[in-house]
Amino acid sequence: MYSRCRSTEDPVAADRHVISLEVISGGSPALVLAYAYSKSATIAGNRHRRRVVALHFANSVQVKKLGVGPANNNVYLVTCPTTRESVVIDASAEPDRVIAAADGTKVVAIVLTHGHRDHIGALDVLRQAFGAPVGIHTADKAMLGEKPDFEIADGEQIRFGRQALTAIHPPGHTPGGLSFFHAPLLFSGDTLFPGGPGATAHALGNFAQVIESIRGKLFLLPDETFVLPGHGLDTTIGLERPSLEEWITRGW
Ligand SMILES: [Zn+2]
Ligand SMILES: [Zn+2]
Repeated sequence: MYSRCRSTEDPVAADRHVISLEVISGGSPALVLAYAYSKSATIAGNRHRRRVVALHFANSVQVKKLGVGPANNNVYLVTCPTTRESVVIDASAEPDRVIAAADGTKVVAIVLTHGHRDHIGALDVLRQAFGAPVGIHTADKAMLGEKPDFEIADGEQIRFGRQALTAIHPPGHTPGGLSFFHAPLLFSGDTLFPGGPGATAHALGNFAQVIESIRGKLFLLPDETFVLPGHGLDTTIGLERPSLEEWITRGW
């Protein structure tokens, strides 16, 4: 249903890994996905040729996705195309690349999907660089070195320009895990990945709880919702929903 074309315009030229760009468009409102290709992205020890670094949704929000750090964490920059105000989701690593990606936007908030160390490694530098308030769910705030500027509850709106992200609180990977929704996009944090929930075999994890969060909150979203996780590649709600019973049976 989508038409494919090559584009010579490169909105992510600042990313040193980008060597070419493919644009997929179609539907109404116009949906444009801009995939950048990488020579040498390495995810979980495997070489992946494609590393998505930018998605654009015309008439709605613009999204840049940056794979950063040794665990290929994803940092997302979500921008209102009208006002150029933006939100940074997670402050994982490689702050220079995040700052370069945000050039031309005014970052009005840094929001954290949870308090794990790999998601906050660049927080001090980015907070300083953007002068933007930092938000996290109440139940994860103690994992930060400093106090957050605001606490985010389930259902709360994070406003930027004429747009807003809606916070969803799906605990289980950590007690204060958050996902952020802007139809048709779900920034799922480490709660949901292609092939299952994020790890719960650590001190703050709870497998039964993450399953209930996915079943009772994330899987209520439409099939066509794009899931943009805290690490690695994307998926959709419709692709993952049929596997829930399989995940429960295997226990991770
Ligand atoms: Zn995590
Ligand atoms: Zn993580």
